[in-house]
Amino acid sequence: MRTLAIFGATGSIGGSTLDVVARHPDRFRVGVLAAHRNSEKLAQLCAQFRPQMAILADSAMEADLRRRLDAAHVACEVRSGMDAIREAAADPLCDTVVAAIVGAAGLDSTLAAARAGKRLLLANKESVVMAGALLMQALHEGGGELIPVDSEHNAIFQCLPGERPALASAGVRKLILTASGGPFRGRSRKDLHAITPAQACAHPNWSMGRKISVDSATLMNKGLEVIEAHHLFGASPDIIDVVVHRQSLVHSLVEYADGSVLAQLGNPDMRTALAHALAWPERIEAGVPPLDLAAAARLDFEPPDTDTFRCLDLAFQALREGGDATTLLNAANEVAVAAFLEGTLPFLGIADVIEQVLAELPAEPVVDIPTLRARDLMARDTARRCIGGRC
Ligand code: NAD
Ligand code: MG
Repeated sequence: MRTLAIFGATGSIGGSTLDVVARHPDRFRVGVLAAHRNSEKLAQLCAQFRPQMAILADSAMEADLRRRLDAAHVACEVRSGMDAIREAAADPLCDTVVAAIVGAAGLDSTLAAARAGKRLLLANKESVVMAGALLMQALHEGGGELIPVDSEHNAIFQCLPGERPALASAGVRKLILTASGGPFRGRSRKDLHAITPAQACAHPNWSMGRKISVDSATLMNKGLEVIEAHHLFGASPDIIDVVVHRQSLVHSLVEYADGSVLAQLGNPDMRTALAHALAWPERIEAGVPPLDLAAAARLDFEPPDTDTFRCLDLAFQALREGGDATTLLNAANEVAVAAFLEGTLPFLGIADVIEQVLAELPAEPVVDIPTLRARDLMARDTARRCIGGRC
């Protein structure tokens, strides 16, 4: 029996996780549920899954959730704030942590779970992009295990040898990440000036939170995933390729020295990756319909259009630059995406803001988490200045 802490429980990944968990009450128990501000939804989840602890952002939310749980006669300890989430990640009341908070806000709890030696089911890619080397070090020192949940990295994990040798000694020549191309695949820059948040969030294949949906539309999601693959698998940027595959049925591939290319396929539904990561090394039912290859009929592949979607190259550039450049890239992207969603930055401005932040702030060596946080804040300030036209 695994006891789970699910951070980001009210989100898209949180919901898919709980859907799998509900199918296997004999295997999984929910110890902790944490979210940001949606106390109504968290109260419903507490009534259904009966965790020992529930956590929201602040004391007003905490009081609101406690009222709702009392009214529904649900016994559950209620806490608030990021410290509570971080403490829960390290608490013996869970052995498995699902890191599904969006953005840099997930870093503390992801790190705490790694240090505490938990099984870490990692969806929160921004924490790897922000602090990959320190996170991998914490994981090593904590002695736990990380199973990637991001569908591409989960696919690569499945296509690599189970003993987890270094890529070179396993005969790996390339990691090939597939990208759907997002809702604007095939469009040119002149078609993208007046894109609205609703258009950017309407992903053709995946139903996801708003931030990652915009990242998919700019191809920054693939850029963040290249950086994630570098850290999770110890892959140099030179052996990471991206190919656009519009059907999102091949979730990624590994090419070996002998010319073999192994791929993981499935319908585009995050419950497959989550079920794999929850049960690994066993396999369990995920509620995902079987892949009907004859009905799908085609698998198309093409190179990414990096002239139109500049964020992918910016991510490669930051990764190659090294030091804390990917921390700056992530911070600038989060601010730019939030501004786009609020209507204060055009879609094409997202890449411009990131490029300007990287140009203004040369990379510095990674020292420790407090220094990275300071650099993250500096990049956010610079990005806001650029958006305000003062760059
Ligand atoms: P979402 O917006 O649907 O959900 C985000 C969750 O994080 C919510 O539960 C929210 O309450 C919580 N949250 C946000 N800020 C918080 C804070 N400051 N403190 C505590 N909780 C906070 O996002 P999502 O689509 O579920 O994505 C979550 C993460 O998983 C992201 O890093 C994303 O890149 C990654 N991911 C998502 C998918 C997907 O299919 N949705 C696929 C791969 C990776
Ligand atoms: Mg992905």
